[in-house]
Amino acid sequence: MYQYKEVKENRFVLSLDNHVEVAEALQAFCREKGILAGMVSGLGAVSEATFRYLDPNTLKYVDKTFREQMEITNLTGNISQKDGQPYLHLHITASRSDYSCIGGHLLTARINGACELYVEAFPNQFVGRRQDPETGINLYDFQD
Ligand code: FE
Repeated sequence: MYQYKEVKENRFVLSLDNHVEVAEALQAFCREKGILAGMVSGLGAVSEATFRYLDPNTLKYVDKTFREQMEITNLTGNISQKDGQPYLHLHITASRSDYSCIGGHLLTARINGACELYVEAFPNQFVGRRQDPETGINLYDFQD
């Protein structure tokens, strides 16, 4: 699913295998390394990506899938924990064949080509999540 190298203590360079799903692979990596707090950035190419938009008026999520070849011009995100499991919050900007970009909150993305990530872990730090009753968003919760 991926290969990685720890380039410095708690800092990893990852190469995800072709055709894997980015969030799934990253979740698996965090579980393998026991990462429950950290940050991630990366780039690559995908053939399909699903974004999520929260409509602030209705508080409903609108998901949209784009099935086309796109370059990940930037993937950025953070790692926290919810219910003892790694919790990923990922955003992405991707460029189309005409070089225009789309982006948003990333749910899933299927690699078609390559995906190179950098993960920095914050060991022994509690960075949790709790659902905010007003917005329904899983906000940061720093209470241990
Ligand atoms: Fe988001």
